[in-house]
Amino acid sequence: MPDFKRIAIVGACAAGITAAETLREEGFAGQLIVIGDELHPGYDRPPLSKKLLQGEVEFKDIELRAPADLTGMGIEVRRGVRALRLELASQLIFLSDGGQLAYDGLIIATGLKPRQLPVPAGVTGVHTLRTLDDALALRGELKQAARVLVVGAGFLGCEIAATARQLGSKVLLLDTLALPLLRQLGRELGLAVRELQALHGVEFRGETGVHRFTDEDGKVTGAVLSNGDSVLADVVVVAIGSTPATEWLQGSGLNIENGVICDRFCRAAHNVYAAGDVANWFHPGYQEQIRLEQRMNATEQGMAAAQNLLGAARPFAPTPYFWTDLYDVKIQGYGRIEADAELKTLSGEFGQPGFTCAYVQKGKVGAVVGWNAPRELRRARQWLDQPVGVLA
Ligand SMILES: Cc1cc2nc3c(=O)[nH]c(=O)nc-3n(C[C@H](O)[C@H](O)[C@H](O)COP(=O)(O)OP(=O)(O)OC[C@H]3O[C@@H](n4cnc5c(N)ncnc54)[C@H](O)[C@@H]3O)c2cc1C
Repeated sequence: MPDFKRIAIVGACAAGITAAETLREEGFAGQLIVIGDELHPGYDRPPLSKKLLQGEVEFKDIELRAPADLTGMGIEVRRGVRALRLELASQLIFLSDGGQLAYDGLIIATGLKPRQLPVPAGVTGVHTLRTLDDALALRGELKQAARVLVVGAGFLGCEIAATARQLGSKVLLLDTLALPLLRQLGRELGLAVRELQALHGVEFRGETGVHRFTDEDGKVTGAVLSNGDSVLADVVVVAIGSTPATEWLQGSGLNIENGVICDRFCRAAHNVYAAGDVANWFHPGYQEQIRLEQRMNATEQGMAAAQNLLGAARPFAPTPYFWTDLYDVKIQGYGRIEADAELKTLSGEFGQPGFTCAYVQKGKVGAVVGWNAPRELRRARQWLDQPVGVLA
């Protein structure tokens, strides 16, 4: 193990906290400092668009670790402090509290920042959703919202639309693509999700964007859409994707391009590693750079980055895993779905609860997805990376 005196971790949520715990579990006995710009102790983000937004769970249910447990492990977490700049050569991080933090090992786990559309200055009621504070603010407004406009029908937008609908609002879900989740799950599943949303009363409009938001007395009233239509909304949620939180790394000397560029060991530079949503690493299985925005990956990569910083030298080659919850449907998947994939049903009846399907790409099974079928999906995992012939 390298003789580090102090390891710094920037980003105090899933990947960062896991990395810190792993360093201790692996026997690192030096100083361990985690910097996080949020004031809350680290928490799980997936419930923010689901049960927490609905009011079924609260912060205590989604907290990752009690602060006392981390203190007990000798992990110092500095909350409400932002890393403003990194100087690689001098191994220094410049902090928003005016301090500097010297390190000899560093793990970057700063996640993502949501994209926003232009909102007229001072106008309220247009939300993005990334943090607990975002979720609590949105939850407060959803309670009184008769009409909700959700812009963007990826995983997040679809979940927010479903939650808002369950809270009793009339919901319009927009996307510039033709179907919800088209980029993530392809045409057939996109159609099934559109049907599911329609069944619950969510109106979906594809190939439609927002031209501009409308407002009155400082409050959003709706939007003029790209096709010229005007729609009314008391609350708007913009869920059009996110960008890696790397602004503090500009000029640091690290290679930044759609995240922190890392090698197969999640190493960005000598004694500098990245993990979670912000890491763009070389996946040895796919033989290309990839970046995942998935909860399971944040934990696994946090562990991997910590172990490799301590000298494990193990390439990080996970099978990507995602899930999303819409109403009473859980869609889960393993692998990577490419745009030209062909879909084959593996079990159950397509579109009916309990089916699984395979995405065939380049003659192989690239991904398997289940719709309320966790057990069957675990079985279907065996087909991943196999030639399509095995499905016959
Ligand atoms: C609403 C929502 C729902 C989701 N649902 C699902 C789901 O159903 N299934 C799934 O697989 N995944 C889901 N995800 C994705 C999953 O939550 C993420 O993949 C995971 O949280 C990534 O963890 P992370 O530690 O890499 O980043 P984050 O959790 O974003 O943590 C990064 C932390 O670093 C902080 N930070 C950023 N910059 C700085 C700085 N300069 N200085 C100090 N601190 C900084 C951030 O504020 C943040 O606290 C969801 C995400 C969201 C937002």
